Amino acid sequence: MHQDCLFCKIASGALPAHKIYEDDHILAFLDLHPIRPGHSLVIPKKHYVWFEDLPEKLATRITTCAQKIARAQKIIYQVQRVSMFYTGIHVPHAHAHVVPMHHVHDVTSTAYLLDGIESFSAPPQADAGELADIANIFADQLSN
Ligand SMILES: [Zn+2]
Repeated sequence: MHQDCLFCKIASGALPAHKIYEDDHILAFLDLHPIRPGHSLVIPKKHYVWFEDLPEKLATRITTCAQKIARAQKIIYQVQRVSMFYTGIHVPHAHAHVVPMHHVHDVTSTAYLLDGIESFSAPPQADAGELADIANIFADQLSN
């Protein structure tokens, strides 16, 4: 546990949260600043700053929990889709957001808003040669 970490304090029970799931390794609770009602967070109880540092089994456990929450959110809020994402913003303790999507831009990038809130704008198509170069860079990096 990190002394000053808000989510470590919630995981240990030192701070309260509106918990919706808990086991020995992970905890899910409602976000205090929800994008939509039911917006949930799933965290590892052990402190990891970045999601890419989570051990595979722990990352899988978080994703499986988020899937269960998503299925519940679809029933509770009657939404077609649920978004799940890590941003690494606000609290430096890896946390997956699980948000019921009532609107296509509930979770979005400004790149998708060029034609306004009621449209969904595709950013310009990338150059094929540029994409091929980027794919090669990834292939090299990921084979290390
Ligand atoms: Zn922490």
